[in-house]
Amino acid sequence: MSESVYDVIIVGAGPAGLAAALYTARDRLNNLILEKFMPGGQIINTDRIENYPGIERIDGPALVESMQKQAENFGTQLKTGCEVTKLEKLQDGNIAVSCDQVEFTAKAVILAPGSSYRKLGITGEEEFRGSGVSYCGTCDAPFFKDKQVVSVGGGNTAVEETLHLTKYASKVTLIHRRDEFRATKVLAEELKQKANEPNSNLAIKYSTVATVIQGNGKVQSVKLKNVKTNQQEDYPCDGVFIFVGMVPNTDFLKGFVQLTDRGFIKCDCAYLRTNVPGVFVAGDCRIGAVMQLATAVADGIVAAMILKEYFRDPAWWNEPVRDLLTPGGW
Ligand code: NAP
Repeated sequence: MSESVYDVIIVGAGPAGLAAALYTARDRLNNLILEKFMPGGQIINTDRIENYPGIERIDGPALVESMQKQAENFGTQLKTGCEVTKLEKLQDGNIAVSCDQVEFTAKAVILAPGSSYRKLGITGEEEFRGSGVSYCGTCDAPFFKDKQVVSVGGGNTAVEETLHLTKYASKVTLIHRRDEFRATKVLAEELKQKANEPNSNLAIKYSTVATVIQGNGKVQSVKLKNVKTNQQEDYPCDGVFIFVGMVPNTDFLKGFVQLTDRGFIKCDCAYLRTNVPGVFVAGDCRIGAVMQLATAVADGIVAAMILKEYFRDPAWWNEPVRDLLTPGGW
């Protein structure tokens, strides 16, 4: 076998990919991570992580830097700015991974491409992207110092990012399409408490959706509609921050591995095997993901541990999930 064949290629350098890299590198496997942009995935944009067990509080970039260093210290090779466009199962059982004009080959692949911002799909959203429309409060809040902004969503991201925006903007109005938050109680309570403070710069509008973003070169207002009363209003603002969830980054995998209608990668959720022998999945892009930092990390580790079973015997791929995995050298 050619020396240019990696033991494992990991697609994506978010928490799942970096955890898989650490574990495979520590097993002295010859690994390579291919990353489209820069390492970190979603957590690079998170300024406050408080739910990673054992770490009381850390900011996303600091955790990513540490995860990357840790994986590289054990020999992980990382290529950034390298967008994987195609994968192919070869006749000899290896997998070809194409990235721009370059092709890499590996005995196994761990798919960890994560997810991207979901769009509202309303008029003005695309037109004003970068001119008032943003999907990242942590990145863009300082541009809205002493300005008025609207944020959209009711999940953990919306709550955390909205609280972050209140540190910069003169007024933040969070609109949510229902009258109950999806976010965890602790966060939702913190948000409501902030809104109830005297002279708070935070307001919450429930049962409200944005229908059009308007402006002239940059955002000037957003049309809001109350879904219960159908009442509409033009709401003046300088920015609209959209935090309505994520969609899996799996377009490039269509026709290679089985995906659900919504684009999540199908797998067995114990061993993280896809339908293609030698191809594992880890993190937010798989069916059943709960989209937490800790679970993405756990997935990366599971895939890294389990792939040794495949290396021990490729026929293992079709074995059912067992009570205990036969230790394959670990
Ligand atoms: P999410 O939990 O899926 O929440 C998306 C929110 O956007 C929901 O409130 C949803 O409303 C709303 N929404 C979706 N489509 C909409 C539309 N077209 N118009 C208006 N509103 C819309 O997404 P997320 O907040 O980005 O979080 C993603 C995952 O990461 C979650 O599992 C979350 O727990 C996790 N996360 C965790 C933390 C943390 O633990 N610190 C921080 C960030 C993210 P409905 O509620 O009505 O569906």
